[in-house]
Amino acid sequence: MAELVVSGLRAAVGGKEILRGVDLTVRSGEVHAVMGPNGSGKSTLAHVIMGRPGYEVLGGSVTLDGTDILVLEPWQRAAAGLFSAMQYPTEVPGVALDDVLEEALAAVGRGGDDVQARMRAEAERIGFDERFLHRPLNVDLSGGEKKRNETLQLGVLRPSIAILDEIDSGLDIDALRKVARRVEAETEERGLGVLAITHYRRLLSELRADVVHVLSRGRIVATGGPELAEELESTGYAGFADDEAEGQVDVMPGLRESFEG
Ligand code: ADP
Ligand code: MG
Repeated sequence: MAELVVSGLRAAVGGKEILRGVDLTVRSGEVHAVMGPNGSGKSTLAHVIMGRPGYEVLGGSVTLDGTDILVLEPWQRAAAGLFSAMQYPTEVPGVALDDVLEEALAAVGRGGDDVQARMRAEAERIGFDERFLHRPLNVDLSGGEKKRNETLQLGVLRPSIAILDEIDSGLDIDALRKVARRVEAETEERGLGVLAITHYRRLLSELRADVVHVLSRGRIVATGGPELAEELESTGYAGFADDEAEGQVDVMPGLRESFEG
């Protein structure tokens, strides 16, 4: 049983406070969708949880199974069972996908002779061309291929909690169905917990959300069941803006210093 707890999380990037107090808990087997307007902080939330450099945590906490993960390096967070599929997967020339996965599994003592076979099985399952396994990570891949690449990594690495940042963007309808079903199977068979950032309800017709959150200007302004995603599809976000009129506030320099390092 895994549990990711985000509590009162406040974070800044480029000197601006973007996350202004986010609370959510994702447990094994649960799918939480995070929806919200462009620029509301969805990707920032994913990056801060995963420890991407350049983001300053100003307050609050993130724990995985009770352990503070904000003090860990990104690779340590991955080794602890966290996985993140990025909205814009990074191209890494000169480093092949299969080498990355072999190293990642070996680092947590889960390497072995069957890794190549597992990668091929995962590729087949989501319709990802096997030859990409030996090619430089994400280089010259289409948007949809990059998303399948991320999904393949999830299937091979078998994290306990996965953050999927717009895994549906760029996927055609058939690929979207395969990717969503692949992740759904992980939740059912292995109890994967998922935080799925998406703009579209159609991802959630295969990857069934237990909870839907609306993030607006760095705060969760509504939480509900799957019906909330339906509602958003017809109404948009107009009814969910938070009530403060002022824009995002600059982080006070003193405050920023106290959290650096
Ligand atoms: P979302 O994923 O919800 O569309 P993001 O989390 O990507 O939103 O971005 C939230 C806000 O943070 C946006 O206003 C964006 O312009 C700003 N932002 C993101 N990254 C940076 C950065 N490196 N420097 C300055 N501002 C940034
Ligand atoms: Mg984003």
